[in-house]
Order: sequence, then structure tokens, then C-alpha cells
Amino acid sequence: MIDKQTLKNLCLEAIDQNREAIFALADDIYRHPEMGFHEFRSTEKMKEAFEGLGLTVENNIAYTGCSAKAGQNNGPVVGIMGELDSLNCPDHPDCDVNGNMHSCGHHAQLANLYGCAVGLVQSGVLPHLDGAVKFIAIPAEEYVDTDYRTGLIEEGKLHYYGGKQEYLYRGGMDDVDMVLQAHLINTQDKNIVCCLDTDCDGFIGKSVRFIGRAAHAGFAPSEGINALNMAQLALNGIHALRETFRDEDKIRVSTIITKCGEMVNTVPAEAEMQIMVRGATIDAMLDASKKVDRALKAGALAIGGKVEIQNRIGYLPLHSSRELTAIYKENVEAYLGCTDDAFISQYVSAGSTDLGDISHIVPCMHIWTGGISGALHASDFKVVDREASFILPAKMMAMTAIDLLFDKASRAKAVMDAFHPVFTKDGYLAFLQEHSKLDFFDSSAL
Ligand SMILES: [Zn+2]
Ligand SMILES: [Zn+2]
Repeated sequence: MIDKQTLKNLCLEAIDQNREAIFALADDIYRHPEMGFHEFRSTEKMKEAFEGLGLTVENNIAYTGCSAKAGQNNGPVVGIMGELDSLNCPDHPDCDVNGNMHSCGHHAQLANLYGCAVGLVQSGVLPHLDGAVKFIAIPAEEYVDTDYRTGLIEEGKLHYYGGKQEYLYRGGMDDVDMVLQAHLINTQDKNIVCCLDTDCDGFIGKSVRFIGRAAHAGFAPSEGINALNMAQLALNGIHALRETFRDEDKIRVSTIITKCGEMVNTVPAEAEMQIMVRGATIDAMLDASKKVDRALKAGALAIGGKVEIQNRIGYLPLHSSRELTAIYKENVEAYLGCTDDAFISQYVSAGSTDLGDISHIVPCMHIWTGGISGALHASDFKVVDREASFILPAKMMAMTAIDLLFDKASRAKAVMDAFHPVFTKDGYLAFLQEHSKLDFFDSSAL
């Protein structure tokens, strides 16, 4: 049996020998950003990259996206994910003609994914491990462009708004026992290599429509039912609820009014709002969501109108696997010779990701890794350290996979034993359905 360090060295060498190809893939994806569920070209690029390694590729795994599995059938399967989608960021100097731009750095995730595949496959280490690795180029992490996704759902081409949700629904995760993923973040000020564990909020999205009655605003406002006033009262109600949110639940209620009347001399008959309710746990999300619904209905009730609330579970909170993170950290320490001060041990965020959904079913690692200046999603986002952004996470995830699957996959099995799933796949899908409902409240008869 070849010892583990020799396997790791072979893998690292393979990645180093292919660094130009890894950079080229990152640059190509960066120059051709595609929004979620539009990633046809990026999927094709990843397919070509995997096929170049002799892998069999499964295509269009979640409308777009592709995956390739390699290794042995005698043990656990480690999923390694890279996200395909860009953002729209028209202020960024590198955006394309449509304003699309990889300002969340997902192009680096794809470079990491490819680098990992190069390392594990080309080095020939996989036959010495007890299990398999599934390389997954996954679409649509950003929860944006919902009208387009609603259209795809109505056409029956899509079932969920997030790529990982769709992948799970289609059975892509059925043979995956754990997931590794790294994501760029600006670590420059902190002078660290990476933030280790991540806990993110989940969220519920609401599309709200207040329905009143139009009337001449001068002649006969008494005959109208003012939908804008309903929305304003609802907002006041939501603000009045904020003191009831506990700090540890990290509740955020974000609201915008997207429609509030057509002409100033007509009482607005319709007002529309978009709302996101974020929370650190499922219970906290559901509790805050119920309170917000109450405030929305109170707005309608005061004016004597109606309100339609389309609730939709967005993403679930992310609770990353401490056991997987510990193995990643060991590898960074061994490879870079660094100590505890090179890490932030826990990164708590009120942001959201659909990896959260997966983390309720199998153990998930989510590392925030350095290499950029500026901010995610912003016009100053920039990769300033190509080694840190594109190569290091590829190496560290490949090393982690070797640790997990070496010697009868004992460490992978320990990770699985320590994990207590919140949901089965079916339970998860039923939960989404149960809490993604249209609520209609009519106070006109009261
Ligand atoms: Zn993002
Ligand atoms: Zn991102």
C-alpha cells in the first residue's frame, strides 16, 4: 500500500503541472459570465475539462450544470462542488455587454473544482482510495432573476429556484455522502489564509400584493381602498416587530415596494412588495415569517382591503461540518506551515446560500478563502492573488478528499457517523412544499 503522504505529493504535483490549464479555465469562465440557469457555455466548458481527464460526464444535471464521478465503488462518495453562475454587476469594469460579471468569484470555484479533478484523477491516486469523488459543476447559487426562473418552472423545465435544490430534487445527491466547497472572500485586512466554519442564515421570500379599489383621489377618495396605505401600515407593523427578534436568531427582514399606484390623482388599487425574512435557524425563520404575515394582514385589515402573500422557502441556514473543516485545516497547516493565527475559526453571516439546504441532509464543508481585494457582489471585486484564489483551495480540497477516503475511508465514515441529518431528501422536499404556499386574507367584509 502506498502511504498517504506519497499519494498527496503525487496529487499536488499533478495540480502544479497543470496550473496554466487551471488558470486558463478560470480566465475563460471569468470572461464569459452567465447568470443562474443560463450557464450553458460554462457547463460546456466544464464538460470539456472533465472529458479531457478521461471522465464520463453527466450533463444538464439541474437544467444546466454537469458532474463527473471517479474512483472506487467500495466506499463513501465525496462531492466537490463549484458554482457556475455569475451576477449582474453593471458597474464593474470587467462586466460583459449585458452587465454580467463574476463578482462573487464563482469562476474561481470552477477552477478549484477542475484543479481538484486534475489532481485526483491525473495523479492516479484514486485507485488507492476506498471510495469515489463526484465533481459537480452546479448552477444557480445566487437567488436572483426570479421571473426567469418562475417562467422555467411554469414551462416544467425547472422545479426550484436554487441550483442545489433542483439537483437534490433530481436525485443528484442520492449517491453523495458529503460535500466540500470553498468560496472566495476578502481576507486582506485580516491577514489570514481562510475562514473555516461558516454558519449562514436561511430565508423565506415573500411576494406580496395588496388589493384595494381605485377611485378619484380628489372627487371621491372615500370610495377607494388605498393599497399603498395598506403597504405603509404593514411596513410600520414590521418595524414595530423588530424589537421582538432575538439577537441570536439573526433575523433580517428586508422589504421593497415594487408597485404602489399608477397616477397620483387615483387612489392606488394595487401595491406590491418583495420581502426576505432571514434567520439563523429554521424555527427562527418560520417564527419571524409568521409575524411578518401578521403585519401584512394588519395593513390590509386597517384599510379594509385584501392581501395575497406568496411565501416561498428560499434557502435553509447553513451549518457547516466541523469535522470536515478540521481535516481541511490540518492540510492547510501542513502545506503552508501555518498556525492558528492563519485562520478565523468561525465566520457567522446573515447571508444565505443553497449549500445550507444540502447541509441539512449530508455533512457540508464551506471554507471562505482569500485571494481577492474589494467586496463580493461589488464593483471593486478583484482577484489579486491567483495562487490563493485558483490553486490553493483546489489542492486543499483534494488533500481533504484523500484524507477522507484513505485506509478504508475511516475518516469519511467518522464524519458520517458524527452527522445527524435534519431531513431525509423526501422530508426536505415536503418541508419546502409545506411552507411555500399562497396565503390570501380578505378583510373587506370585516
Ligand atoms: Zn454571491
Ligand atoms: Zn457566491
